[in-house]
Amino acid sequence: MNTLVNYIRSLFLLELWQGLSVTGRYLFKRKITVQYPEEKTPISPRFRGLHALRRYPNGEERCIACKLCEAVCPALAITIETEPRADGSRRTTRYDIDLFKCIYCGFCEESCPVDSIVETRFFEYHFEDRADSVMTKDKLLAIGDKYEQQLAEDRAAQAPYR
Ligand code: SF4
Ligand code: SF4
Repeated sequence: MNTLVNYIRSLFLLELWQGLSVTGRYLFKRKITVQYPEEKTPISPRFRGLHALRRYPNGEERCIACKLCEAVCPALAITIETEPRADGSRRTTRYDIDLFKCIYCGFCEESCPVDSIVETRFFEYHFEDRADSVMTKDKLLAIGDKYEQQLAEDRAAQAPYR
């Protein structure tokens, strides 16, 4: 009986018509492919791209050197050294993230009590040298300065869900 059914299916090319019906269903639907990099798809405000350290509007760095991000990082990618300032406040003297170790889990961002270490929407970067993969404090602050407006908007958009 099965042989007969298979014979009829192949005689009338039923599987071919089934396949073509799927093609036909999508032929006139809106296209979802884009011509990257000229065209880009929308990015979520929660996207986890390149890291940045943020400052307050008066230019003071937000980080209070509590080391929570270093402690929570599952990849041990963050290295922090600290020192008290003359006014008694504590600040980092070294803040490195090794992006070859980082798994972009976002735990550092989640743990930070002052919204200092964040992950930007920026993901189009590359390294040509092993040492370039270590993001130093200066580099992280520079990225934060560059993307501050976008970072502030993204944090505001997420505020009701945090
Ligand atoms: S995103 Fe995750 S792995 Fe990367 S530095 Fe932050 S906590 Fe570590
Ligand atoms: S970035 Fe945030 S969590 Fe990490 S040491 Fe600074 S204040 Fe603490």
